[in-house]
Amino acid sequence: MLSLSTQQLSVKLPLTSLSRMAAKKVLVVYAHQSTGSFNAAAKDAAVGVLASQGCTVEVSDLYAMKFKASATAEDITGEVKNADHFCYAEETKLAWEEGKLCADITEEQRKLTEADLIIFQFPMYWFTVPAIMKGWIDRVLTLGYAYSQEKRYSQGIFKDKKAMLSFTTGSHESMFSADGINGDMNVTLWPLQNGILHYCGFQVLAPQIFWAPSRIPSEERSAMLESWCTRLLFILGEKTLSFTPLDCFDGEKGFQLKPEVYEKNATKEYGLTVGIHLGKALPPNNQMKAGV
Ligand SMILES: Cc1cc2nc3c(=O)[nH]c(=O)nc-3n(C[C@H](O)[C@H](O)[C@H](O)COP(=O)(O)OP(=O)(O)OC[C@H]3O[C@@H](n4cnc5c(N)ncnc54)[C@H](O)[C@@H]3O)c2cc1C
Repeated sequence: MLSLSTQQLSVKLPLTSLSRMAAKKVLVVYAHQSTGSFNAAAKDAAVGVLASQGCTVEVSDLYAMKFKASATAEDITGEVKNADHFCYAEETKLAWEEGKLCADITEEQRKLTEADLIIFQFPMYWFTVPAIMKGWIDRVLTLGYAYSQEKRYSQGIFKDKKAMLSFTTGSHESMFSADGINGDMNVTLWPLQNGILHYCGFQVLAPQIFWAPSRIPSEERSAMLESWCTRLLFILGEKTLSFTPLDCFDGEKGFQLKPEVYEKNATKEYGLTVGIHLGKALPPNNQMKAGV
C-alpha cells in the first residue's frame, strides 16, 4: 500500500490499480483563485492520487496563468483572412491548419492532444463554469482541431479520450433537485456535458460534485475529499454517461431522430436523454450516473 498525504487527509492506495493507470496522461484544467480553497484541495488530491498510480498529470492553473478568456483576432498570429468581418471559428480553423494560432492556445492544444483524461476542476459560477474556464473552452476547442461538421458527438474528434466535470457548489444538493429551487442538476449539466464535452466526442465520466463545501462541517469536507481520492483510483475504468449516438439522427432531414429510432422509443416511459426527451419524463440521473 502507498500512503498519500495531501493538506488534510491520508488515503491508503492499493498497488493493484497501478498497472491499469500506468502511462495514462491526465490534464487537469483548474480554475480557482486561491490555493487555500476547497477546489485547490480537490485538484491537489487528483494530482496526488493519479501521479501515485503511475499517471503523468499536467495542470493548467488558469488564474495563475492569467489565461486570456476572450476569443479575439489576437488569437491568430499575423494577418487574419477577413478583418472587416472576423469570424472566430473559420479564422481559427485556418490558423490551426497553418500553424498560426497563438502560443497559449497551441500549448493547451498540445496538452489536450496528449491527454487520455481531462478533468475540469472549478467552483460553479452562475450554473456553469467560471468565465476563465469558458474562455479556455472557447479558445482551445477550435473548429478543425476539436470538432467539425462531420466529426462531432459520438463520432467526434476526441472519442478515444475521457473527460469529466469536478466542481463545488454554494448550494446544497436538495436545492438542485427536480423539486428544488435551482431545478434538476441533470438539466444544468446538459449544456456542458452534451453541448461541449460530448459534442467534441469525449466519453463523459459522471461528474464529481462537492455540494456546498463552505456550508458543511470540516469532517464532512474531509470525507468528501477521501471519497474523491477513492474514486480516482479506478476512474479510468469507470463506465461513462449515455448519449444518443450520431447515427440515430438523419443528416438529410435536419438531424432529427430517424423515424425507426423514434418509433422504437415511442412507448418507453422516459426520453432518451435529458435533452432528447421526446416530450417524455427525463431519464432520472441521465447526466449524473453512468449508463442511465
Ligand atoms: C460569481 C459566482 C457565481 C456563483 N454561482 C453559483 C451558482 O450558480 N450555483 C451555486 O450553487 N453556487 C454558486 N456560487 C458559489 C460557489 O460555487 C461556491 O462559493 C464555491 O463552489 C465554493 O467552493 P470553493 O472552493 O471556493 O470553497 P472555499 O470557500 O474555498 O472552501 C470551502 C471550505 O473548505 C475548506 N477547505 C479548504 N481546503 C480544505 C481541505 N483540504 N480539507 C477540508 N476543508 C478544506 C475551506 O477552508 C473552507 O472553509 C457562485 C459564486 C460566485 C463567486
